[in-house]
Formats: sequence, C-alpha cells, structure tokens
Amino acid sequence: MQWETVIGLEVHVQLATRSKIFSGASTAFGADANTQACAVDLGMPGTLPVVNEQAVSMAVQFGLGVNAEIAKTSVFDRKNYFYADLPKGYQTSQMYHPIVGPGLLDVTLDDGAAKRIRIHHAHLEEDAGKSLHESLSDDSGREMTGVDLNRAGTPLLEIVSEPDMRSAKEATAYLRAIHAIVTYLGISDGNMAEGSMRCDVNVSVRPKGQDAFGTRAEIKNVNSFRFVERAVAFEVERQIELIEDGGTVVQETRLYDPDRDETRSMRTKEEANDYRYFPCPDLLPIVLDQAYIDTLRDGLPELPDAKRGRFESQLGLSAYDAGVLASSREMADYFEEVMHVCDDAKQAANWVQGELSAALKREHLEISASPVSARQLGELIGRVKDDTISGKAAKQVFQALWDGQGESADEIIEAKGLKQVTDSGAIEAMIDDVIAQSPKQVTQYVEAEPDKRGKMIGYFVGQVMKASRGTANPQQVNQLLKEKLDAQL
Ligand code: ADP
Ligand code: MG
Repeated sequence: MQWETVIGLEVHVQLATRSKIFSGASTAFGADANTQACAVDLGMPGTLPVVNEQAVSMAVQFGLGVNAEIAKTSVFDRKNYFYADLPKGYQTSQMYHPIVGPGLLDVTLDDGAAKRIRIHHAHLEEDAGKSLHESLSDDSGREMTGVDLNRAGTPLLEIVSEPDMRSAKEATAYLRAIHAIVTYLGISDGNMAEGSMRCDVNVSVRPKGQDAFGTRAEIKNVNSFRFVERAVAFEVERQIELIEDGGTVVQETRLYDPDRDETRSMRTKEEANDYRYFPCPDLLPIVLDQAYIDTLRDGLPELPDAKRGRFESQLGLSAYDAGVLASSREMADYFEEVMHVCDDAKQAANWVQGELSAALKREHLEISASPVSARQLGELIGRVKDDTISGKAAKQVFQALWDGQGESADEIIEAKGLKQVTDSGAIEAMIDDVIAQSPKQVTQYVEAEPDKRGKMIGYFVGQVMKASRGTANPQQVNQLLKEKLDAQL
C-alpha cells in the first residue's frame, strides 16, 4: 500500500519584548533561577495583568507578514490546568478569538519547487515556568525537582498551520520560512537552542488517494529543524507499521527523544486534560482600529519573499542564489553590505556562498559571528576587481582575515607581498628568464603542430607564475608568453 504523510505544525515563537506579556518583569535569557518573576507572574492574589502593547504589535506584524486577517477584537481565555511550573493554575491564552486569523505562507523546497501552506490562525499566550529535574538535592541529600519561574509570563505567539504539509522536508521548509519571517520582522530572536522557537508536530498517515485524514499523533516541543525531520520520519514509520500489522493509531501526545531518535507516548486522548477554557475576567478584549493596523503595515520591513524577488530581478542573481541569500535576515544584510562595498552583486554572492559559507560551516559559526566582517570581505573583492591581487591570492587574504592576521585586505596584501605584478617590463623579464632556462621545451613548442601549441604554453605559464610566487597577472603572462614564443617560430 502507498501511504501519504499529513503534517500540521503548531509553532511557538517567543516574542522579543523586554518585559513579559502581562507584567513588567524582564524576559532576558540566562538569569539566575527565579530572579525574574514578579507577583503577577506568580499569580499572587490581588494582582492584575496588563497587556504588553509591544506583544500585540508584534503579533499584528506577523499576521500582516503572512497576509492574514487581523482580528479587530481578540479575547484572552484561561486554559486551566495544574502543574508546578504554572503557579496561577491557568495559562492565559487565546482560544476562541485569536488576534491573527487565516493567512498564507509560500515556501520554497530544496528542489526549488514552491508550496503554499495555509495558516489557520496565530494567538498570543504566556509561557509557563520550567521544571528542573537534574541534580538538585535538599540538605539531607534527597533528590528534588526545582521550578524556575523566570520564563513564566514570557510572551509567545503560537502559529497554527493547516494540515497542509506532506513530508518532513515540507515541514522543515515551513518552519524555516516562519523562522525567516519572525527574524526579518525582528519580533523574535528565533534562537531555537534557547527555546525561542519550538513546535508541536502533528503527524498522521493515510492511504494515497484517500480524502479523509488519518488519526494524528502530536509530538510536543521539538526544538530544532533536524529533530522535526527525525521525529516525523520515526513517527511515519511507526504509524504505517502499526496499521499494516492490523492495529490502529490512537490520538495521543508523544515526546521525541533525540538521544534514542524515537517518539514515546506521553498521554492518550482519554487521559487528556479538560482545560475548561473561559474568557479571562481580568483582561479586557484587545480592540484594534484600522489606523493602528495600517501604521504597522506601512512600517513592515522588506520580507524574505520580496527580498528574494528583488535579488533575482534587480541584481540578476539566480533563483537559487537569491533564495539562499534571502533565507535569513543576517545573511541578506551581510550580503548587501558586501555588495555595496565592492559594487558587484555576483562576486559578492559568490564569496558569501562560497568561501565564507564554507568557513562558517567548518567552524559551526552563524554568519553574525563571522570573524570576517562584510566590509572586510567587500574590500577584498574590490582588490580582485581592480587587479591588485589574483583570485588565488584573494583566498589567502581571506584566510588571513579569518585568522585575524590583519585589520583589512590592504594591510594583509601589503604585509604578505601579494600585490599582483602588472608591470609588463617585470613580467617580460621573468618570461625571458624562463625561456632561456627551458631550451628543450622551446624546441618542442616550435616543432609542435600549431593546434598543440596552445596546450604546451601551460608549462611556461606555470614556471613564470612560480617565479613570481603567484603574483604575476595570469592574463598578462599568457599574452606575453604567446607573443615571445611565437616570435621564435
Ligand atoms: P487541537 O486544537 O486539538 O490541538 P487542531 O484541530 O487545532 O487540534 O489541530 C492542531 C494541529 O494539528 C494543526 O496544526 C492541524 O493542522 C494539525 N492537524 C489536525 N489534524 C491533523 C491530522 N489528521 N494529521 C496531521 N495534522 C493534523
Ligand atoms: Mg494543539
């Protein structure tokens, strides 16, 4: 039987506000446990939440970025459940009237194909605290679980897709597109390792050709692109095997364990919580007017799709190059600065995707942490363009910049004596030397069939380049050599 995979994602994006969604406590990452939770976050009796206007504005910007309907009125609901990391006893979320309505996202797959994925809605909510199970013990040595409430009340935007994805690749492409949009908008740092973006992956399978969806499993809190891909692969295989062995998939929540590369059941539908959602009596509905929405729309930066299109149509880059360079805001900003400094889009694209990307990959660095700045790279490319150095020497200069051996390409070119020799007198002198020292090869050249001579010239070029330690301009060497050798015929 042929099976089809169906995937829907619920992506939680931590919004980059300075303070929490309903209180003035800081959202900074990495503070000592429980130093950044205030009375509101702790759910103390008598406290009242106040909505963070920036979180609202960020949610609306996201909605505009995916061409979604923005709700003029949205409402916070309480999602009731008891857990130690949620001292209030409920999470404030939006269930029935989310701030962002249906939208669309066009994603590009690895093979260049485009796929449209519908967004069901996006809603604002608060994050919970964090349980720490590792290596805590009390005075008598008993093991304990700690609770860090710093994260309680951190604003989240939960983006819920329609079940439109049909493979793990489509799911990761969608997740990358979401990541690109939120980082372009600057509404999240998108740092998956720190939990700023995590997702619940809903997976089901159905016989190919069948309209009705199969029963899904929801894999909670997957926090990297690779884990999404692995979790889907495992889950699809598990479900198909189960059905083919005569079993049925039960709707349940599962956990992906990266160490064992498998998903495990957490709770089935029967054990699922009844959240008893109801409108939060402490918060007024959020009411937005058209002018507010229009102002935010006018202030949107150029988004990944538009940038990709501009790189292609205005700069003449290939669709592939444009896609890679527009894939993240950091990459796009870096590339554009290189281009402005060297005034050459194609060379800038080649270097950013070639030498620079390879070096970053080798050392597992993000482009924002590149030891070679965009300005330095742009100036280096400029020196190749104005014939100061050869392409080969440029790679040496790049490595030296990477290693911090100098502040600028010019400084390194000077220090290493890499300036290309374009003085034809100097090159001619080197050529004369090589010709004088290679009588055998000269005779062979003279006696060769005319159409073989072009190939034979390579030997002389190599000798001259060697004599110049790579600094002679290769075009000039070629040209002058040909003239001098042909003069011997
Ligand atoms: P709930 O409210 O119970 O979480 P939803 O219907 O809102 O359920 O769906 C949550 C997510 O699961 C959405 O992203 C949706 O696209 C996805 N989803 C729903 N049904 C399926 C299915 N049969 N297979 C895969 N994903 C699904
Ligand atoms: Mg859900």
